[in-house]
This record gives sequence, C-alpha cells and structure tokens, in this order.
Amino acid sequence: MPVTKLKGVGPRVAERLERIGISEVQDLLFHLPLRYQDRTRVTPIGSVRPGIEAVVHGTIELVQIQYGRRRSLLCRLSDGTGAIILRFFHFSAAQQKNLIKGLRLICFGEIRKGPAMLEMIHPEYKVIGGEGTPKMEESLTPIYPTTEGLHQISLRKLTDQALNLLDTHLLEDYLAESDVEFVREWSLAEAIRYVHRPPPEVSIDQLIEGTHPAQQRLAFEELLTHQLSKKISRKAFRQQQAPPLNAEGRLREKLLSELPFTPTDAQLRVEKEVCTDLSSEHPMLRLVQGDVGSGKTLVAALGALQAIEAGYQVAIMAPTELLAEQHLVTFRQWFEPLHIPIAWLSGQLKATERRSALKQIAAADPCVVIGTHALFQQDVSFRKLGLTIVDEQHRFGVHQRLALREKGNVKGLTSHQLIMTATPIPRTLAMTAYADLDVSVIDELPPGRQPVKTTVISDARRDEVIHRIASVCKEGRQVYWVCTLIEESENLQCQTAIETAELLASNLKGISVGLIHGRLEKKEKDRVMQAFHAGEIDLLVATTVIEVGVDVPNASLMIIENAERLGLAQLHQLRGRVGRGSRQSDCVLMYHPPLSDHGRERLAIMRETCDGFRISQRDLELRGPGEFLGTRQAGMMRFRIADLMRDKELLPEIDKAADVILKKRPEIIDPLIQRWLIHGTDYADI
Ligand code: ADP
Ligand code: MG
Repeated sequence: MPVTKLKGVGPRVAERLERIGISEVQDLLFHLPLRYQDRTRVTPIGSVRPGIEAVVHGTIELVQIQYGRRRSLLCRLSDGTGAIILRFFHFSAAQQKNLIKGLRLICFGEIRKGPAMLEMIHPEYKVIGGEGTPKMEESLTPIYPTTEGLHQISLRKLTDQALNLLDTHLLEDYLAESDVEFVREWSLAEAIRYVHRPPPEVSIDQLIEGTHPAQQRLAFEELLTHQLSKKISRKAFRQQQAPPLNAEGRLREKLLSELPFTPTDAQLRVEKEVCTDLSSEHPMLRLVQGDVGSGKTLVAALGALQAIEAGYQVAIMAPTELLAEQHLVTFRQWFEPLHIPIAWLSGQLKATERRSALKQIAAADPCVVIGTHALFQQDVSFRKLGLTIVDEQHRFGVHQRLALREKGNVKGLTSHQLIMTATPIPRTLAMTAYADLDVSVIDELPPGRQPVKTTVISDARRDEVIHRIASVCKEGRQVYWVCTLIEESENLQCQTAIETAELLASNLKGISVGLIHGRLEKKEKDRVMQAFHAGEIDLLVATTVIEVGVDVPNASLMIIENAERLGLAQLHQLRGRVGRGSRQSDCVLMYHPPLSDHGRERLAIMRETCDGFRISQRDLELRGPGEFLGTRQAGMMRFRIADLMRDKELLPEIDKAADVILKKRPEIIDPLIQRWLIHGTDYADI
C-alpha cells in the first residue's frame, strides 16, 4: 500500500518521505525511532546517567559566570539526592538576572560529563510556581530519523495511521518459528508496535539501552537480513568461473632458496590456504590478516608466483603511493632474479612510461603489475588477469572496488582475490564485516622481534627529547621524527615537516638530518629513502607518508609529534616502522597539552601493548564499528535499530540462522531485503 493512501500525504510530503526511503506503508512501520525522550517522569538527580536525556527538578544553589575559553553561565541545581550543573554558553541579561539562588526549576536535556560534575547544556527549563510539578507525558516520546521539512509530529501522525492498519492487515512474520526464544515469543507486529509506541509501564532503562526483547527481536531480523544480503552477493561471486591456477612450484622453490630467512609456520599455513584456493575453478575470496610486520608480503608473493607459473598476470594494489613503491622495491628484489617482468602504474608516471606499462599489461604475458588506484583507470586493460592482491582494502572506496571487479573480469572469467590487512577485526564483528569471506590469520611474528618500548610525554619536554636523539645517534642508531598535523591539509603537514627538519638540524650539530614528505618528487624521495637505508642519514624527519611499508631495520627510535591527533590504528602502523631489527626499539609519543580523557586513554593503550589485536579491540570500543571499519562499511552499517557493539552476542546465532534460511527458505530472503535494506542487496559489497 503506497503512503499516499494515508491522510496528510500529498505530493510534497510524499517526496520528502521518499527522500528517507519511505514509499509504502510498510516502510513507515520499519522506519524505527532513533531514540526516545523520557518526559514521563522526573529522575532524581542522584541517579541520572551521562548520555541519556532526562527531566530533573530542583532548587538553584549557586549561580556563577565562568570565564574560560568560552564564557558560560553555570547554575548548580540540587534536589537533595544530588546536584547537577546547568550550563549556558548563550544567555541573555534577563536570564542572568532571573536565574537566582533559591529558584525552583524543572529541566529537560541530555546529561553529560562535565569537568567537575554532571551537566546539562542548554536545557529546556521552566520555573516551578506554587502549583506544584507540571504535567508529564504518559509514554516515552519516539524521535525518528527525518529530513528537512518533515517534522517529528508529522512522522508520529503517519506512524499512528500505519500502526492502526496493522489491526486489519497482515504483516508477514518470517521468523515465527525461530530457534531463538525472544524472537519466537515476540511476533513481528507486536515488536513493531512496542518500539514505535512504548507503553507507559515499559522498563525505560532497557528501552533506552536498546536491550528490550521487542527491540532485540527487530535488531535480530535486521542483522539477519544484512547477513543474508552479504552471503548471497558473495555466493554469487563465488559461483562465477575463474581460471584454475595450477603450478608445480618451480618458481616458489627458487624464491624460497634465495630468501635470507625461512618463512614462519604461520606464513606457510596461510600460503597453503591461498594456493589451494587458487587452483579452484571458482574465484578465491580470501582475506589475509596479520599484524604489522608479520610478513604478509611474502604470502602475497608466493600466491603471485603460482599465478605466474600458471601463465597468468597478477595485479597488486596499494592505497598510497609510498606503500605501492615499497611493494615495487620488494617484488623487484624477489622476482627479477626469477625473470618475472614487473610493471609499475602510479598516478605520477610520465606519458611515455605509462604507455609502455599499458603495453606490457595488454600483451597478456605473465607479469606482475603493481600500483595505486591508477590500476582502476579506464585505459588499463588486463588480458590475462589471474589474481588481484589488494593491500589494506578498507582504504579504497566503493567505486574503486567496483572498477577493479570489472577489470578482474576478462572473457567471462573472474580473477581470484586476495585481500591483506593489518587491522585485525574482533571476531564477532568480523562475522558481519566479512560474512562468508574466507579468512586466514598470520598469527606469529618472525623470530627475534622485540616489543617497542613506548613512552608518552608532553611536548613541553621537547628539548629533552632532542637531547636524547643526539646520544642515540652517537650509538649508531637511526631515528624517525614524525610530524603529524591536521590530516586533511597535506600542504600544512609538509610545511611543518620542513620547519621541524630545519630546527632539528640547527639543534643537532654533527647529525645528518633528512626529510621526506608527500610533495617531494619521486626521485628525491627515492634518494632520501636510499640514504636512510644506507645509514647516511641519522635522523629522518617525515610526515605520516611513512606510515605503511617502510622497512629500515636499523632505525630504532621513533618520535611522533601530536600523537593525540592520530587514530590508534595509524599509531600502531607508524610504530611498526621501528622494532624491525633485533635491537630494543623505542617510541616516544609526544602530545600537545591539554590532553582530553579520551586522548589520555588512547595513548595509554599504546604504551601498554604492541599487540595489534588488543589495540584494535580497544579502538573498536572507543570509536564504535562504523568509524572503525572505515567509510564504506560505515555506510553499510547504518542500521535502523541494531547496534553491532550492543548486539554482538546475537551475531553467532544470526550467522547460523542465515545459513539455515539460505538452505531451507530462500523464498523469504527477497521480502526481508525489501523490508530492511533501502537500496536492496548491495552487489558491490564483496
Ligand atoms: P607486513 O605484514 O606488515 O606487510 P612485511 O611483509 O612488510 O610485513 O614484512 C616485514 C619484514 O619482515 C620485511 O622486512 C620482511 O622481509 C621480513 N620478513 C617477512 N617474513 C619473515 C620471516 N619469516 N623471517 C624473517 N623476516 C621476515
Ligand atoms: Mg605490508
């Protein structure tokens, strides 16, 4: 039934509803409240919690203007059970005059942690007169996601109508026979009603936390639908035809005999998993996960050799120029003695260089093509692509991945895909983010690595740090100094690096200082990196361009400026540039005070552990899954009611249920997707 059948929906409202994905009455039912406001009761101030909105009342005990970075008017409100600060950044003279000690107020607003105690910022408030407490609402107030020109009131009226229709129209409940108790016990219609219009006697805490069985019932169905959608799109991918890449292992033997080290057991195990997949006539879809420095490149190289020996081409793609270059250096070193041609495609190639690379790729002879997103461009056409290797895939956007998928499709054959990442995804989350991807984990570092000793200090002590560099360099060790600034402005970051290098050079006589940043010409970058490799440069000042891939084992001290501005994953990557030799390495995280609680906590984690898994677990807890997984996944993870962190306990059950449905009730998949996913199945989402 189209929404236009409802009262109050003319063409204008219909257009606005359409914008938020509502065109049918059913869509309204599944347009669930984002949150609730509780205006049903007064909460004793002593029991309010940060993060929720509440009504409190009490008496003003103290009024004060605070002068700080921003002037604000503070009122301390107390009700005998506790006290809370009302904070106003904008206030009129009249307000200042009227809000006086002894006045009784009723306030509504969000409770937040303030510097000293809990606060409400710009609460709605009313003075309580002699007549007692004002009237409260009877049930929780749902707040819906909306768009410009569409008010909460209108949405509430429309959902009222839709809910009334539920009395006479059947809403098909596909999970009525679920194995999961709370899913079976709450019919779909009941759960929908409850969530839209929670009755007055509801457990408000549960509802606000999202743990009420009615909400969990819907969250279950929503997560299940996402899981089904991913599984079918990946299944479709797997059913395509791929060239089976079979080889005797001649090239592999040769490479391994020339390496200065032996692969770890973990590398060998993962290699075997990859190579078994490659010989299949359906495309591999495998993620190799391994902490910074675990040796993913070798696994990729061994996979590549199998494809080459089978007569196919291999594309290796990295998200940044520097990382792609690092791969280029490694692969040249490993593959040129085996007489395997290597082509290089970056955005910075000269026209003639580019043309010759394209010619090589179009020639259909076995070769390795290494590059950045330049590999996606239109004029790049692979003739015999057998395997695509993508490093740090989450840094690529949807369009780039789609383009790559197209490249990987040559004459009806789909190339095998190997994805590598250093970001370990906690297991429960991995189930969703990587539903049905095969995952291999390199869970062992090469022998002899020592954890990097990390200290956190204020940049007020910069002089001490500079002093330390001098003595470290005298011992023959090499040092990185990483300048970070606001990430969006690469120019500014380069500028800071230039100035820092000058400053350090003038403070550290007799020490040779090098500089590397994103705006240098490639030739100059190569020269600097080579000089640092050769030990001609003692101290390398760099921007975060060195974050990935750079490998100089003699460098054993790293200073990171403004460390508080970087994400944990990025800090972990950066720090991974030291601790590569057998020597004890150190990392100094320098911050610019004042440090927020959040910042302090994050830097403390870095000091406590070098374990990428633990770091990413904390990162996930601090940032939430959307941000954690990167923009693309974040887009996918905008749920109506589910919350991956809160509902993670449901995920194993959901995964099982999805498999059962795929096998026994495939007919309900489409209707579920219609219901829950605005854009239908996302086939790009592999
Ligand atoms: P990442 O997993 O971070 O991509 P790399 O593949 O860059 O790690 O490997 C890190 C370093 O360890 C490189 O210098 C590489 O040559 C070296 N390496 C890889 N495997 C081993 C091994 N089994 N033993 C010793 N060193 C290794
Ligand atoms: Mg790597």
